[in-house]
Amino acid sequence: SLRWPAVKPVLKSQKLANVCYDIRGPVLDEAKRLEEEGHRIIKLNIGNLAPFGFDAPDEIVQDMIRNLPASSGYSDSKGVFSARKAIMHYTQQKNVAGVTIDDIYLGNGASELIVMAMQALLNSGDEVLVPAPDYPLWTAAISLSGGTPVHYLCDEGNGWLPDLDDIRAKITPNTRALVVINPNNPTGALYPDDLLREMVAIAREHGLILFADEIYDKIVYDGLKHTSLAALSEDVLTVTFNGLSKSYRSCGFRAGWMVVSGDKRPAQDYIEGLNILATMRLCANVPGQYAIQTALGGYQSIDDLILPGGRLYKQRELAHEMLTAIPGVSCVKAKAALYLFPKLDPAVYPIADDQRFIQELLSQEKVLLVQGSGFNWPHPDHFRVVFLPNVDDLRIAIERIARFLDGYRKR
Ligand code: PLP
Repeated sequence: SLRWPAVKPVLKSQKLANVCYDIRGPVLDEAKRLEEEGHRIIKLNIGNLAPFGFDAPDEIVQDMIRNLPASSGYSDSKGVFSARKAIMHYTQQKNVAGVTIDDIYLGNGASELIVMAMQALLNSGDEVLVPAPDYPLWTAAISLSGGTPVHYLCDEGNGWLPDLDDIRAKITPNTRALVVINPNNPTGALYPDDLLREMVAIAREHGLILFADEIYDKIVYDGLKHTSLAALSEDVLTVTFNGLSKSYRSCGFRAGWMVVSGDKRPAQDYIEGLNILATMRLCANVPGQYAIQTALGGYQSIDDLILPGGRLYKQRELAHEMLTAIPGVSCVKAKAALYLFPKLDPAVYPIADDQRFIQELLSQEKVLLVQGSGFNWPHPDHFRVVFLPNVDDLRIAIERIARFLDGYRKR
């Protein structure tokens, strides 16, 4: 008789046991299902600019097209020279000392390089300090790399600035690094220089590597200025991440970079690790690399969007005003980036499971958000709003959120 072999379940790797990225998680699958049924969903869930009418600057697109015939080969593993030279100049403009072409790595977005930087560093038991709330790729990349993410709190009562005492309290002999996301996703916070200096001092005192995620460094409102952490950490090993995705509306080009600066002398072995991983994936997407020189050297059209009267500025104003007018909702106004991270007063909205809350909002009102726990926030009382839709859509979306919350309150 025929005997079929027993069907063994195919399990994912145990490396993924603690890896979680809810921004594209189960709620998004539900939104896709609703769209297939014909519903129009207003999406305030992902910081992807192009679908909201924020086009990449034409000169970048034209330059990529022009360079496309020359982009079919692999490039140097660290990236094409012209792009790295432009990034070197950019680091100089941001007062980061001593960066050479060799210290610059191009990647398929900052995302690839963040994972690479963690994979090259971490052994089992190593701890990395990450903000809560965070951009969850950091926590996921640390876990995937065998390390342990340890979350330090950012203080909502203090404009979402990192709580330095909490950082100090969480340092152990196993702590290897401190992650600083500035400007911050999801809170929109921009850190003052004094605070950055104190974070550098903590890293110096405890021998930690600084990882600075500065992908929103050009999206800063109200005339404020961004300071690169690396400009203040000349004597501390610092790895800075940036790219074209946000400031140049080019998420899809996957053009990101990483710059190693500060005291590199004790880090030669780690740098060798980075080089091994950079060569293993051969190189980053070459057409995207060719956009970098034109972008950094060209007209900085992002400025037109963030000034009063600019689209992003107006959308931030409207979203903040409307959200804070809802009873039981408070919200620190973003100084930078594309996000608000409002708080729902637990006395008014006793939420036990914030993913379920977001799912109910989606099915009732066809508005898609991401729950605060998706950013490793420890309480079910926040959600993130991406203020990329135009003011008409934002108004409709927040009116629907208000209506949903009104019903929730009266349950
Ligand atoms: N870092 C932060 C804080 C982000 O918000 C994002 C994207 O949303 C990234 C990194 C990844 O950007 P990239 O498109 O360069 O991979």
